[in-house]
Amino acid sequence: MSGSIVDLSREAPPRELSVEVCVVGSGCGGATAAWTLAAAGKEVLVLEEGGDAVGLDLTQRDGAMYDRLYMDRGGRSTSDLSIAVLQGRALGGGGVINACDVVPISDEVLRHWQTRHGLTDLSPETLAPYRARALADLSANLPTEEQLNTNNALLRDGARRLGVRGEIMMHNRVGCAGTGTCLIGCPLDAKRNPRFVAIPAAVERGARFFLRARAVRIEGGSREQKTLHVRTLDAAGHHERGSFTVRAKVVVLAANAVASAQLLLASGIGNEHVGRNLSLQPQLPVSALFDRPVNFFRGIPQSFAVTEWERHDEASGLGGYRIESIGGTPGIVASILPKLGHEGKATMAKFPHLAAVLCLVPDGPNGRVRVESSGRLRIDYTAPDEQRQRYRDAAKAATRLLFAAGAREVQIATSPPVILTSAADLSAIDALAFAPATTPFLSAHQQGSVRFAPSSGQGAADPAGNVYGARDVYVFDSSGFPTTSSTHTMAPILTVSRYLAEKLAARLG
Ligand SMILES: Cc1cc2nc3c(=O)[nH]c(=O)nc-3n(C[C@H](O)[C@H](O)[C@H](O)COP(=O)(O)OP(=O)(O)OC[C@H]3O[C@@H](n4cnc5c(N)ncnc54)[C@H](O)[C@@H]3O)c2cc1C
Ligand code: SF4
Repeated sequence: MSGSIVDLSREAPPRELSVEVCVVGSGCGGATAAWTLAAAGKEVLVLEEGGDAVGLDLTQRDGAMYDRLYMDRGGRSTSDLSIAVLQGRALGGGGVINACDVVPISDEVLRHWQTRHGLTDLSPETLAPYRARALADLSANLPTEEQLNTNNALLRDGARRLGVRGEIMMHNRVGCAGTGTCLIGCPLDAKRNPRFVAIPAAVERGARFFLRARAVRIEGGSREQKTLHVRTLDAAGHHERGSFTVRAKVVVLAANAVASAQLLLASGIGNEHVGRNLSLQPQLPVSALFDRPVNFFRGIPQSFAVTEWERHDEASGLGGYRIESIGGTPGIVASILPKLGHEGKATMAKFPHLAAVLCLVPDGPNGRVRVESSGRLRIDYTAPDEQRQRYRDAAKAATRLLFAAGAREVQIATSPPVILTSAADLSAIDALAFAPATTPFLSAHQQGSVRFAPSSGQGAADPAGNVYGARDVYVFDSSGFPTTSSTHTMAPILTVSRYLAEKLAARLG
């Protein structure tokens, strides 16, 4: 029996509905879970608050695409305005707007989870076939040297000149023409993301997807039948226009590491760990001016990584930092440059000569998702001193790499900005305190807000993803990860979600 994709901004919702499994979120975790459970013969309904956009609907226009494809139209941030919290909001979730870098979860991280966090089930041996399956589902492949655009080639050249380790990253693009607009959707449908892989496969096996359907509360978390309260949205996703309820035996949350915790908190489900242990992996952009044209908005945006300073061990998990080239449309770039007004305009006039990299610094569980009494979402985050020092170390390394590649000027968009014309004196970077709202940190890899743990004293969900204190309410996205899984989260989420969904299917019989 074939399923369906129904847009509730156009069609009337059912007044009431009963299903076996209701999945919230159609991104990397939710689409994989829906596919796996539907393939096992389960009756699956997926609720997705975003809409569907493919092909030429993805117009490559910054403003319109942020509005259409991002949570809070791209304006979500931590409560102190220090970190932009970027998340997808569309059929296919973050996979629709991400940079397509495929970095699998490592054996060291899994061993760290086993030995330090008691997740004995999630062993490298058990997860190896699921990791391989995730790579196959993503059609993971290596871009060729020729596919590196100038921005990425400059980082590679800088690494070679300094003699530091770097590599081309795998990606999930097939048929990419290098338009450079991955972060606002691919007009050529070249991303092998959930929208084009897991979702069609789930529909073929009978799963139903409701779009513009926002789950706002789950009632009866400890009862056999749960009731999800759902609001329908208008076509633009700006306004609520109706409501309905879904009765489900099993609820799988995969709404992202902020929204899954938010929904549990809004429903009063789970223990005191729900919302805690959030890791945001804030990333620090560093830009540079070159005499030669770079045109970094053309070509594959993010394909080369300097991995020299990444630390990876069983005792402490993922640490250190790594540096990757990034791409950006004018809107994104303007937001990470250090100048405003006339000066900002003058800098943007040099856009073709700009290069940019990101410092990716795996973090600890330093954040918390809260729902205020007004119902408002709040995301708190404080980076400890050790992490701030790694930002400084990473910014210095990035600066050296960019100068080694021939940069005339390197800029860190703090307030006030740091502008350097040589690598000889980097003391201005040592002085950076990263006070709230002074640095354009970006978070794209949120994890850990409903931590998996062997007991309810240590975390919010058991190792099978079942939220403590709730009956058959599961979390199958990165909310469960006890520490940061990888510098990029898509492949780890696909891996863990399929494993947990298979386990659930077996349990349901
Ligand atoms: C700009 C950007 C670039 C990135 N680049 C990379 C990269 O190159 N490589 C990589 O591996 N990772 C990357 N990531 C991260 C990766 O895309 C995410 O980690 C991943 O998509 C998260 O998967 P998920 O299933 O947890 O949530 P998502 O994929 O975010 O899906 C969650 C879905 O749930 C929906 N939802 C939320 N709340 C509700 C609700 N209450 N009711 C109904 N629906 C709801 C949302 O609309 C969304 O579609 C990037 C992320 C961003 C934002
Ligand atoms: S760079 Fe490739 S994958 Fe990215 S938007 Fe352009 S064509 Fe699509």
